[in-house]
Amino acid sequence: MTFQEIKEQDQKYILHTYGRVDVALAKGANARAWDADGKEYIDFTSGIGVNALGYADPDWVQAVRVQAGEIQHLCNYYYSPQNTALAEELSKASGMAQAFFCNSGAEANECAFKVARKYGEKRGAKKILTLVDSFHGRTLATLAATGQEAFHKDFLPLNEGFVYAPANDLEAVSAQLDGSVCAVLFETVQGEGGVVPMEEGFVQGLRRLCDEKDVLLMIDEVQTGVGRTGYFYSYQGLDIQPDVVTTAKGLGGGLPIGACLVAERLRDILKPGQQGSTFGGNPVVCAGAREVVRRINDSTFLQDVTEKGAYLREKLESLSQVEYVRGRGLMLGVKLRGANAHDVLLECARQGLLILTAKALVRFLPPLTITQEDIDAGLAIFAKVLSQA
Ligand SMILES: *Cc1c(COP(=O)(O)O)cnc(C)c1O
Repeated sequence: MTFQEIKEQDQKYILHTYGRVDVALAKGANARAWDADGKEYIDFTSGIGVNALGYADPDWVQAVRVQAGEIQHLCNYYYSPQNTALAEELSKASGMAQAFFCNSGAEANECAFKVARKYGEKRGAKKILTLVDSFHGRTLATLAATGQEAFHKDFLPLNEGFVYAPANDLEAVSAQLDGSVCAVLFETVQGEGGVVPMEEGFVQGLRRLCDEKDVLLMIDEVQTGVGRTGYFYSYQGLDIQPDVVTTAKGLGGGLPIGACLVAERLRDILKPGQQGSTFGGNPVVCAGAREVVRRINDSTFLQDVTEKGAYLREKLESLSQVEYVRGRGLMLGVKLRGANAHDVLLECARQGLLILTAKALVRFLPPLTITQEDIDAGLAIFAKVLSQA
């Protein structure tokens, strides 16, 4: 099929919920991808932080392939060894006690809301506080949790029980914790909200506040987790331990998985029948996730992410068209002088570089396994596009 035929098929048969770029990818290897005509791209998106080990990592492919040939699915009536092994590995990597498995970031957050509501029930605390410009998903409850009105429009009424405070403003959060709030949920670096990092003092202050007020501290690690910021989970670089962690995107290495992790003090807070998911904990997906965790939960691998992130950042900061760069590890947002981020994204795609945007910023989420050579190749295209803008 030609690209035009694919595009026509998309326009005719797919509900238009995405503003697509004129690229159809057919094949990939680590940070390189090819379209049906063989045009090559450098990939600085990793499928929005999903392909943590890049495209078609041989060991990941092998783990998934072998498991698909053994047993592809079983219902949650039965124990699954891939699933229980992944739960233990995640517990060791995160310092959390137990996992509930689902299929996406939004579902992981939905589970966190249930944990929070159940925790607050005993004292009538039902509200969940999130931050302005946060992003927590597209289901109705996660939409209400998302502190951006642009996403709410056209879908009112919102689910009840969510309140908001500005990011990096401890006093504003404190003022809202009046006994009616059971949990605070936030991203340590807001992704969709424009790659906005939370200050270390703010995060540590939140931990103290939550302890004082008996409120759960819940971190949405859906985008920041699984090595993205140079730590297995980003809070590990901020010297705190949360009560609840939600994780998805990079965890499956490209297959759909989400998990809600709870701390020891919340052990068995949800009882049989109180949460479930048909596909949650699927053995094929878990086999892929185990390979991801095995590779990424390693100090050498994580150090490498930090170094590549610092290198990319330094090179970007040296471009005259760049106003500033923010983010952590290999999660970077770039504010451009003058040029429009979306126009730059389109021109980069034409010239063979795939990038993302977040609000007015250009956003880079390359695979964590990207090579130095591919970072340089992508940077060269980016610099050229900026010089022509
Ligand atoms: C992508 C994202 C989500 C939603 O994940 P889905 O898998 O699309 O449901 C939630 N929170 C954050 C921080 C995200 O980046």
